[in-house]
Amino acid sequence: MEKNRPLTHFLKIIFIISILLLFCFPQTALLQTISVEYICADTDYETPVYIIKTDYKEPTIMTVAGTHGNEKAGIKAAEYLKDNIKIEKGTLIIVPRANILACAKNVRCFPPDINLNRVYPGNPQGNSVEKLANEIFNLMKKYDIDLLIDLHESIEFYKKNPENYGQTLVIDSDDDYLYLLSSFIVEEMNKDIVEDRNKYQVLLDPVKGSTAYSANQQLGIPALTFETCRKLPLSFRINEHIKFLKIILYKWNMLPAES
Ligand SMILES: [Zn+2]
Repeated sequence: MEKNRPLTHFLKIIFIISILLLFCFPQTALLQTISVEYICADTDYETPVYIIKTDYKEPTIMTVAGTHGNEKAGIKAAEYLKDNIKIEKGTLIIVPRANILACAKNVRCFPPDINLNRVYPGNPQGNSVEKLANEIFNLMKKYDIDLLIDLHESIEFYKKNPENYGQTLVIDSDDDYLYLLSSFIVEEMNKDIVEDRNKYQVLLDPVKGSTAYSANQQLGIPALTFETCRKLPLSFRINEHIKFLKIILYKWNMLPAES
């Protein structure tokens, strides 16, 4: 009998440690899975779509970056989140490089004369960019998304030249829900910003043919277009895009409170 005692003690200790770990890290019990699919498969525009799923399917949020290939902060933020985010609820769909050729060439549009953000909902029989827009449009339908977030950057501050949208959150309709949601996010974002020029503001500007306009007006999906200003340092802008997305994920209870 005496011989078994050390083993019994050892098992007891293991059991106690397991219980403690479960209390200390409850999120370890909630696993997410990540899968990848491709749009425009087998073409020059083939680009990955990452689907991060949990056991609780709802809500489904989709974020698109790299619609314009030289707007790096959104692309880097989307890639960072794809590799690092741990959600505990819902589904997060990430398209980090929507126009993968424009991203690779570090140019706004490719080909230069076709703006992906003006051809939605696209056309499956159209040119390559119209086909690409149509595939992204179909993704929104396929996954029955609850919110679309489009990440962009501008060459100038809106407050300096209202022709440009740097440091804004753009909505495409004046419905109360979108207005309240965007106002809440801008207020949260601005808490850490001192300089007035760098503070965000909500803009109502329906831009026909854009990803967000198409989501909102054609599919009835709430949509937000986030724009930082490229005159600010890249590392700051990447963090702003990450912060923006996290505020939304917290608001939808997709992130645990402590992360
Ligand atoms: Zn853009």
